[in-house]
Amino acid sequence: MRINIAIDGPSAAGKSTIAKELAKILNYVHLDTGAMYRSTALKALQCGIALDDEAAVCEMLKNTEITMTPDGKIFLDGKDVSTDIRTDEVSMAASNVSKLEKVRADLVARQQEMAKAKGFIMDGRDIGTVVLKDAEVKIYMTASAYARAERRYKQNIENGIPTSDIETIAEEIRQRDYQDMHREHSPLRKADDAIEIDTSDMTIAEVTEAIYGYVEPFLQKEE
Ligand code: C5P
Repeated sequence: MRINIAIDGPSAAGKSTIAKELAKILNYVHLDTGAMYRSTALKALQCGIALDDEAAVCEMLKNTEITMTPDGKIFLDGKDVSTDIRTDEVSMAASNVSKLEKVRADLVARQQEMAKAKGFIMDGRDIGTVVLKDAEVKIYMTASAYARAERRYKQNIENGIPTSDIETIAEEIRQRDYQDMHREHSPLRKADDAIEIDTSDMTIAEVTEAIYGYVEPFLQKEE
Protein backbone atom coordinates (compact mmCIF):
# COMPACT_ATOMS: atom_id res chain seq x y z
CA MET A 1 0.00 0.00 0.00
CA ARG A 2 1.00 3.62 -0.48
CA ILE A 3 1.36 5.52 2.77
CA ASN A 4 2.25 8.99 4.01
CA ILE A 5 5.39 9.63 6.03
CA ALA A 6 5.76 12.57 8.43
CA ILE A 7 9.20 13.87 9.39
CA ASP A 8 9.46 16.60 12.01
CA GLY A 9 12.28 18.03 14.06
CA PRO A 10 14.34 21.13 14.78
CA SER A 11 16.17 23.19 12.14
CA ALA A 12 18.92 21.56 10.12
CA ALA A 13 18.45 18.09 11.65
CA GLY A 14 18.69 16.61 8.14
CA LYS A 15 14.96 16.19 7.54
CA SER A 16 14.89 17.35 3.92
CA THR A 17 18.05 15.47 2.93
CA ILE A 18 16.64 12.19 4.28
CA ALA A 19 13.16 12.85 2.90
CA LYS A 20 14.68 13.37 -0.57
CA GLU A 21 16.61 10.09 -0.36
CA LEU A 22 13.58 8.15 0.80
CA ALA A 23 11.40 9.70 -1.90
CA LYS A 24 13.86 8.46 -4.53
CA ILE A 25 13.92 4.92 -3.13
CA LEU A 26 10.15 4.66 -2.68
CA ASN A 27 9.23 6.69 -5.75
CA TYR A 28 7.21 8.99 -3.46
CA VAL A 29 6.78 12.77 -3.55
CA HIS A 30 8.84 14.83 -1.12
CA LEU A 31 7.13 17.97 0.16
CA ASP A 32 9.40 20.37 2.03
CA THR A 33 6.81 22.37 3.97
CA GLY A 34 9.50 24.71 5.35
CA ALA A 35 9.98 25.94 1.78
CA MET A 36 6.33 27.08 1.79
CA TYR A 37 6.84 29.18 4.95
CA ARG A 38 10.12 30.47 3.50
CA SER A 39 8.44 31.46 0.20
CA THR A 40 5.65 33.23 2.09
CA ALA A 41 8.24 35.14 4.12
CA LEU A 42 10.27 36.04 1.03
CA LYS A 43 7.25 37.46 -0.76
CA ALA A 44 6.17 39.43 2.34
CA LEU A 45 9.69 40.92 2.59
CA GLN A 46 9.67 41.77 -1.12
CA CYS A 47 6.23 43.39 -0.87
CA GLY A 48 7.17 45.36 2.26
CA ILE A 49 4.50 43.59 4.35
CA ALA A 50 5.22 43.47 8.10
CA LEU A 51 5.88 39.88 9.18
CA ASP A 52 3.44 40.18 12.08
CA ASP A 53 0.59 41.66 10.01
CA GLU A 54 -1.60 38.55 9.86
CA ALA A 55 -4.36 40.07 7.73
CA ALA A 56 -1.94 41.47 5.15
CA VAL A 57 0.12 38.27 4.87
CA CYS A 58 -3.10 36.23 4.48
CA GLU A 59 -4.42 38.59 1.82
CA MET A 60 -1.08 38.28 0.00
CA LEU A 61 -1.31 34.47 0.16
CA LYS A 62 -4.65 34.50 -1.68
CA ASN A 63 -2.73 35.50 -4.79
CA THR A 64 0.35 33.41 -4.18
CA GLU A 65 1.30 30.21 -5.94
CA ILE A 66 4.01 28.03 -4.40
CA THR A 67 4.98 24.94 -6.37
CA MET A 68 7.74 22.34 -6.20
CA THR A 69 9.25 20.36 -9.03
CA PRO A 70 10.11 16.66 -8.63
CA ASP A 71 13.82 17.60 -8.56
CA GLY A 72 13.23 19.86 -5.52
CA LYS A 73 13.13 23.34 -7.08
CA ILE A 74 10.77 25.83 -5.45
CA PHE A 75 8.76 28.24 -7.59
CA LEU A 76 7.06 31.31 -6.14
CA ASP A 77 4.51 32.80 -8.54
CA GLY A 78 6.34 31.09 -11.39
CA LYS A 79 9.84 32.28 -10.40
CA ASP A 80 12.56 29.90 -9.21
CA VAL A 81 13.36 30.98 -5.63
CA SER A 82 15.19 27.80 -4.55
CA THR A 83 18.32 29.75 -3.54
CA ASP A 84 16.67 33.04 -2.49
CA ILE A 85 14.64 31.34 0.27
CA ARG A 86 17.74 29.86 1.98
CA THR A 87 19.35 33.05 3.32
CA ASP A 88 19.62 33.68 7.09
CA GLU A 89 17.25 36.64 6.75
CA VAL A 90 14.53 34.52 5.13
CA SER A 91 15.06 31.68 7.66
CA MET A 92 14.24 33.98 10.56
CA ALA A 93 11.44 35.71 8.62
CA ALA A 94 9.90 32.27 7.92
CA SER A 95 9.93 31.48 11.63
CA ASN A 96 8.17 34.82 12.23
CA VAL A 97 5.36 34.39 9.68
CA SER A 98 4.89 30.79 10.78
CA LYS A 99 3.65 32.06 14.15
CA LEU A 100 0.51 33.47 12.49
CA GLU A 101 -2.47 31.16 12.96
CA LYS A 102 -4.25 32.05 9.71
CA VAL A 103 -1.08 31.79 7.65
CA ARG A 104 -0.61 28.28 9.04
CA ALA A 105 -4.23 27.42 8.27
CA ASP A 106 -3.74 28.45 4.62
CA LEU A 107 -0.52 26.48 4.11
CA VAL A 108 -1.68 23.44 6.09
CA ALA A 109 -4.83 23.23 3.92
CA ARG A 110 -2.63 23.20 0.79
CA GLN A 111 -0.42 20.46 2.28
CA GLN A 112 -3.39 18.30 3.32
CA GLU A 113 -5.00 18.63 -0.10
CA MET A 114 -1.83 17.34 -1.78
CA ALA A 115 -1.34 14.45 0.67
CA LYS A 116 -4.79 13.00 -0.08
CA ALA A 117 -3.19 11.19 -3.01
CA LYS A 118 -0.88 9.27 -0.58
CA GLY A 119 2.74 8.50 -1.38
CA PHE A 120 4.02 11.70 0.29
CA ILE A 121 6.99 12.31 2.54
CA MET A 122 6.48 15.65 4.24
CA ASP A 123 9.01 17.32 6.44
CA GLY A 124 8.41 20.26 8.77
CA ARG A 125 7.51 21.06 12.37
CA ASP A 126 3.81 20.12 12.67
CA ILE A 127 3.41 17.27 10.19
CA GLY A 128 2.94 14.44 12.70
CA THR A 129 0.94 16.58 15.15
CA VAL A 130 -1.32 18.59 12.79
CA VAL A 131 -0.94 18.19 9.02
CA LEU A 132 -0.83 14.39 8.74
CA LYS A 133 -2.06 13.23 12.13
CA ASP A 134 -2.92 9.88 10.54
CA ALA A 135 0.41 9.36 8.73
CA GLU A 136 1.34 5.68 8.87
CA VAL A 137 4.97 6.45 9.80
CA LYS A 138 6.02 9.45 11.92
CA ILE A 139 9.63 10.32 12.57
CA TYR A 140 10.99 12.95 14.96
CA MET A 141 14.53 13.69 13.84
CA THR A 142 17.05 15.43 16.07
CA ALA A 143 20.81 16.04 16.16
CA SER A 144 23.15 17.93 18.45
CA ALA A 145 23.26 21.71 17.99
CA TYR A 146 26.86 21.57 16.76
CA ALA A 147 26.20 18.79 14.23
CA ARG A 148 23.27 20.77 12.85
CA ALA A 149 25.19 24.03 12.53
CA GLU A 150 28.08 22.25 10.84
CA ARG A 151 25.77 20.52 8.34
CA ARG A 152 23.96 23.74 7.48
CA TYR A 153 27.31 25.51 6.98
CA LYS A 154 28.53 22.79 4.57
CA GLN A 155 25.18 22.73 2.77
CA ASN A 156 25.30 26.51 2.24
CA ILE A 157 28.80 26.31 0.76
CA GLU A 158 27.90 23.36 -1.51
CA ASN A 159 24.81 25.15 -2.81
CA GLY A 160 26.44 28.56 -3.29
CA ILE A 161 24.28 30.20 -0.61
CA PRO A 162 25.91 33.17 1.17
CA THR A 163 26.76 31.84 4.64
CA SER A 164 27.76 33.06 8.09
CA ASP A 165 30.34 31.18 10.17
CA ILE A 166 29.38 28.06 12.16
CA GLU A 167 29.02 29.96 15.47
CA THR A 168 26.61 32.48 13.95
CA ILE A 169 24.60 29.70 12.29
CA ALA A 170 24.43 27.84 15.62
CA GLU A 171 23.03 30.96 17.30
CA GLU A 172 20.48 31.50 14.52
CA ILE A 173 19.38 27.86 14.76
CA ARG A 174 19.07 28.10 18.55
CA GLN A 175 16.93 31.22 18.30
CA ARG A 176 14.70 29.77 15.60
CA ASP A 177 14.23 26.46 17.46
CA TYR A 178 13.27 28.33 20.62
CA GLN A 179 10.74 30.40 18.69
CA ASP A 180 9.35 27.33 16.85
CA MET A 181 8.99 25.33 20.09
CA HIS A 182 7.41 28.09 22.14
CA ARG A 183 4.93 29.66 19.71
CA GLU A 184 1.23 29.56 20.51
CA HIS A 185 -0.01 27.76 17.40
CA SER A 186 1.29 24.31 16.39
CA PRO A 187 4.62 24.54 18.22
CA LEU A 188 7.29 22.02 17.27
CA ARG A 189 6.91 18.91 19.40
CA LYS A 190 7.26 15.20 18.97
CA ALA A 191 3.95 13.48 18.21
CA ASP A 192 3.15 10.84 20.85
CA ASP A 193 3.30 8.11 18.21
CA ALA A 194 6.48 9.35 16.46
CA ILE A 195 9.76 7.45 16.46
CA GLU A 196 12.67 9.61 17.61
CA ILE A 197 15.98 9.31 15.76
CA ASP A 198 19.11 11.20 16.85
CA THR A 199 21.15 11.56 13.66
CA SER A 200 24.24 13.28 15.19
CA ASP A 201 26.51 10.29 14.60
CA MET A 202 24.67 8.67 11.71
CA THR A 203 25.33 8.89 7.99
CA ILE A 204 22.59 9.77 5.51
CA ALA A 205 22.54 6.12 4.38
CA GLU A 206 22.15 4.86 7.96
CA VAL A 207 19.25 7.18 8.75
CA THR A 208 17.55 6.37 5.45
CA GLU A 209 17.91 2.65 6.11
CA ALA A 210 16.53 2.98 9.64
CA ILE A 211 13.42 4.79 8.42
CA TYR A 212 13.01 2.38 5.51
CA GLY A 213 12.83 -0.38 8.15
CA TYR A 214 9.71 1.26 9.63
CA VAL A 215 8.14 1.85 6.22
CA GLU A 216 8.77 -1.57 4.67
CA PRO A 217 6.06 -3.56 6.52
CA PHE A 218 3.42 -1.20 5.08
CA LEU A 219 4.67 -1.66 1.54
CA GLN A 220 3.82 -5.38 1.71
CA LYS A 221 0.25 -4.74 2.94
CA GLU A 222 -2.79 -4.79 0.66
CA GLU A 223 -4.64 -1.44 0.21
O1 C5P B 1 12.33 23.56 7.67
P1 C5P B 1 12.84 24.97 7.47
O2 C5P B 1 13.98 25.30 8.35
O3 C5P B 1 13.07 25.29 6.04
O4 C5P B 1 11.60 25.90 7.93
C1 C5P B 1 11.71 27.29 8.04
C2 C5P B 1 10.76 27.78 9.14
O5 C5P B 1 9.42 27.55 8.76
C3 C5P B 1 10.91 27.05 10.48
O6 C5P B 1 11.88 27.64 11.31
C4 C5P B 1 9.52 27.14 11.08
O7 C5P B 1 9.34 28.34 11.78
C5 C5P B 1 8.61 27.18 9.88
N1 C5P B 1 7.92 25.91 9.63
C6 C5P B 1 6.78 25.64 10.34
N2 C5P B 1 6.05 24.53 10.07
C7 C5P B 1 6.48 23.65 9.14
C8 C5P B 1 7.68 23.89 8.42
C9 C5P B 1 8.39 25.03 8.71
O8 C5P B 1 6.39 26.42 11.21
N3 C5P B 1 5.73 22.57 8.88
